[in-house]
Amino acid sequence: MRTVTAASYDRQMTDLPVEVIRSKKRKRTVQAYLADGKLRVLVPAGLPPDEESRLIESMISKATRKLSSAGVDLIARATELAMEYGLATPSSIEWSDRQLSRWGSCTPSDGRIRISSRLASMPGWVLDSVLIHELAHLEVPDHGERFRAIVKRYPLGERAKGYLIAKSEERVSS
Ligand SMILES: [Zn+2]
Repeated sequence: MRTVTAASYDRQMTDLPVEVIRSKKRKRTVQAYLADGKLRVLVPAGLPPDEESRLIESMISKATRKLSSAGVDLIARATELAMEYGLATPSSIEWSDRQLSRWGSCTPSDGRIRISSRLASMPGWVLDSVLIHELAHLEVPDHGERFRAIVKRYPLGERAKGYLIAKSEERVSS
């Protein structure tokens, strides 16, 4: 049986690793969700290899489309995340070219959020992480315990942090 390695899917997943789990209990259904900084794809065990790869590829491309930030509608994305995390929606949210040292900023007093336009060319799951950070600031201005409890719910937060640190260093050294 052909095994699908996570590495073979990495490139398509816009830097997000994929983990394939084959389950004997699963019949025909395929499922994908984000966990521990990975896209986990669940497939029934014992499928013909070509059918399995086809199913996995289609789940990944679906997830990639959802996770991509190409042409993203910032307002729609922020609204969606605010609803998902039970947070307030910003009064305005816009891309900013002037955010050179920060990835995002928030003014809790008037509910405005600005997001660095550099994020537009990064994977959508990285953008989401910054959006959740700024949305959380609408509720909690500081980075205290209550703030951390909100952002911790995003399963790719730590991975996104590492990604952005690497990007900042790239910028400093170039
Ligand atoms: Zn902050």
